[in-house]
Amino acid sequence: MDVQDIKGDQVSCDLLVVGGGIAGITTALEASEVGRKAVLIEKTPMLGGRVLRTNLYFPKMCPPGCGIEINLKRIRQNENITVSTLTEVESISGSPGNYEITLKINPRFVNEKCTACDECAKVCEVMRKNELNFGLDETTAIYLPHKLAFPYRYVIDPEYVDDERMKKCVEACEYGAIELDMQPRTVKVKTGAIIWATGWEPYDATKIDNLGFGQYPNVVTNVIMERLASVDGPTHGEIKRPSDGNAPKSVGFVQCAGSRDENHLPYCSAICCMASMKQAQYIRRQHPDTEIHIFYIDVRSPGRWEDFYMNAQEDEKIHFHRGKVARITEEDGTGNLVLEAENTLTGEMTRTTVEMAILATGMVPTTKSSPPPVDVRLDEFGYIDQDDDSGIIGCGNVMRPLEVSATIQDATGAALKGIIAAKGGTK
Ligand SMILES: Cc1cc2nc3c(=O)[nH]c(=O)nc-3n(C[C@H](O)[C@H](O)[C@H](O)COP(=O)(O)OP(=O)(O)OC[C@H]3O[C@@H](n4cnc5c(N)ncnc54)[C@H](O)[C@@H]3O)c2cc1C
Repeated sequence: MDVQDIKGDQVSCDLLVVGGGIAGITTALEASEVGRKAVLIEKTPMLGGRVLRTNLYFPKMCPPGCGIEINLKRIRQNENITVSTLTEVESISGSPGNYEITLKINPRFVNEKCTACDECAKVCEVMRKNELNFGLDETTAIYLPHKLAFPYRYVIDPEYVDDERMKKCVEACEYGAIELDMQPRTVKVKTGAIIWATGWEPYDATKIDNLGFGQYPNVVTNVIMERLASVDGPTHGEIKRPSDGNAPKSVGFVQCAGSRDENHLPYCSAICCMASMKQAQYIRRQHPDTEIHIFYIDVRSPGRWEDFYMNAQEDEKIHFHRGKVARITEEDGTGNLVLEAENTLTGEMTRTTVEMAILATGMVPTTKSSPPPVDVRLDEFGYIDQDDDSGIIGCGNVMRPLEVSATIQDATGAALKGIIAAKGGTK
């Protein structure tokens, strides 16, 4: 078995960690490496969360595989961790030190005999939209979720499992790994503490109707930009204008797209300025002549990130404009975009024409739309407002918007809080 799956219908552990992003992975590892038993559950078919969906990550500009691979190796070597993907919490009862949880494990339709040889996908005639790339390309209905997927095993999109044509995949698998009739399982978990690390989702840019996302093809969001720049993205890493596939000669970044705005997200997501300056580098490396315009209210690059900002300021092709973009419209016939911005100091209005625009949309905690199925205090934005007497401990981007290194620090703290809470103590 390539992964420490949950066997049977009951399991007990010191910590149940919900969410297999960098926060949940780190907490489960830190607790298990000091001898505690951790069960790590993830609702998608693989671990890695949003970090695995980025092209490079700031400030060091390394590929996400750098950090993730080391963590996956640590998991494989650790008998104290049990990992269960495609798994969600159905109910929680009990109190710190003594919780009982019901988990639902959704079928993968591919068992542990899978060697990821790809023979099934080669014969698969059924296609699906690839959610990893925001539906901008397709995969076969049986697919490997990512080249760094953990578990390294194929999965079938449940929407297509009953399609008669999927039987060809079963015939092509010489290992007997495909089970089209696999059913969901229910598992009971007894645990001392629960770490809630379900992360964030991007703010829905279609709600910001003045900025043209969903209306004009050359307006994309920052999370889509990560995929456009990734080699396993819909354009195989080539940054192109969606409308005509040409390299953009000018790009506008719209900071605080919906953020710090009472009509959308009133708070600052803390990382969007850095994400845009990082993405400006993606464009600079591929298209050295492209002019980049960053429209900002104020640039937030606290602490050691200031260098990153200064380097961007020194770049002759990156132009910073103090201005909140009030409206994006499309020019007739060219697909070009006109960004109308108001200088937040002088009130002066400007109009800048670019070939492509990237909206720096903010992060929304998943707890806003899917809170834990138990009484946990949330603040007005949906972030967990930690109650010190609770054995349910928020961790990572369900607590506040955080970059990866701060998420890891938070996760280490959550592991310690969980270990204490598991004994029925207070944190
Ligand atoms: C455009 C953009 C670029 C960024 N680039 C960088 C960068 O370069 N450098 C950097 O340091 N930071 C960057 N970040 C921030 C980074 O993405 C976060 O710090 C990181 O994702 C936080 O990890 P997390 O584990 O808290 O959440 P997530 O990555 O969201 O992981 C949460 C996991 O929980 C799972 N989950 C959700 N709900 C459930 C449920 N109910 N049950 C079970 N599992 C569930 C999810 O599927 C996911 O796997 C960027 C953010 C944005 C918006």
